[in-house]
Amino acid sequence: MSVEGKEENQVPLVDLRAQYQSIREEIDAAIRGVLNRARFIGGEPVRRFEERFAAFCEAKSAVGVGNGTDALFLALKALGVGRGDEVVVPAFTFIATSEAVTATGARPLFADVQRDTGNLDPEAFRSAITPRTKAVIPVHLYGRPANMSSILDIADRHGIAVVEDAAQAHGARDDGRRVGSIGTLACFSFYPGKNLGAYGDAGAVVTNDDALAKKARILRDHGRTEKYVHRIEGYNSRLDTLQAAILNVKLGHLEEWNRRREQVAARYRDLLSDVEGVRMLAPAAEKEHVYHLFVVCVKNRDEVLRRLADRGISAGVHYPLPLHLQPAYRSFGHKAGEFPVAEELASEVLSLPMYPELTEVQQDYVVQELRMLIDQRV
Ligand SMILES: *Cc1c(COP(=O)(O)O)cnc(C)c1O
Repeated sequence: MSVEGKEENQVPLVDLRAQYQSIREEIDAAIRGVLNRARFIGGEPVRRFEERFAAFCEAKSAVGVGNGTDALFLALKALGVGRGDEVVVPAFTFIATSEAVTATGARPLFADVQRDTGNLDPEAFRSAITPRTKAVIPVHLYGRPANMSSILDIADRHGIAVVEDAAQAHGARDDGRRVGSIGTLACFSFYPGKNLGAYGDAGAVVTNDDALAKKARILRDHGRTEKYVHRIEGYNSRLDTLQAAILNVKLGHLEEWNRRREQVAARYRDLLSDVEGVRMLAPAAEKEHVYHLFVVCVKNRDEVLRRLADRGISAGVHYPLPLHLQPAYRSFGHKAGEFPVAEELASEVLSLPMYPELTEVQQDYVVQELRMLIDQRV
């Protein structure tokens, strides 16, 4: 059954068109400005965005890079992580978190996550540590900060660097501290669908450490210290000027968009509170969770997902397979059952439509259809 026509009967997972329409004049002017100046690499928009984004994160420096995966890779390179080293990552995250580790030549060590948040379990992190462990990458999954005080405490005791994967958490706070200012370094993605999204790929490394910021800055631009003087061999992973100009506009709206996401989440919690068979992940203190995604756990998730799609509702699954069971990591020899919480979440998580422009009518429709499917025990 496919219901078409009415706006409330077509609910996407995110609606980037609605967002563009709401800021079109500002965006168009920013793009025209870059085209008129015809300077497409570096320049004022990049410098300005780096300054403003660092301030937003309440951190000292932001280094604009090509994408979030490169941000993680360059952060690890800046720390000197490489062959023979190990980096602990949650077993339940997007594969970019571990790809960045492998790209340095180091080995990712998977650790299980917490059932109520999906975030790295500090005890599992502690147990994974060996003498070769150089770093840990807590992921602020779905926009909710990982348990940073415990993770920092364990990392400090073992002399391990903490690289925040903040790709889903622009503006989130943990005990009042902005993500991006908590770990040794933090990495952001501005992939279009993220809370702060460019119109293409973009990312940033954020840190309070001047030496690490300088290293990341050199590494992203061919290791150059002057135009054709290269102190080391680096990479080409700069933030495009055009993307920086777009991000400068969108950064001005981010606080308001995050507040709106929080309202949408509060309303989902309220509307779903009496639906047995829907387990919501734990809320956070006010203004701490930025709800990149609103995730619930349901049995028969794949069937619910299909039936919602039949009704015009695009839910999502982040993520259907934990990292240790990915075909790409078969050579590590992990088995099903090794990280039971990651496996349980992977089979049950369902991301409901979540974006600042989602209307109450659309949200009511999503809840009504989900409730019906759950009541029918599909
Ligand atoms: C999006 C994302 C990344 C990667 O960012 P890209 O900009 O797509 O390279 C890394 N980690 C997590 C958790 C993400 O959600």
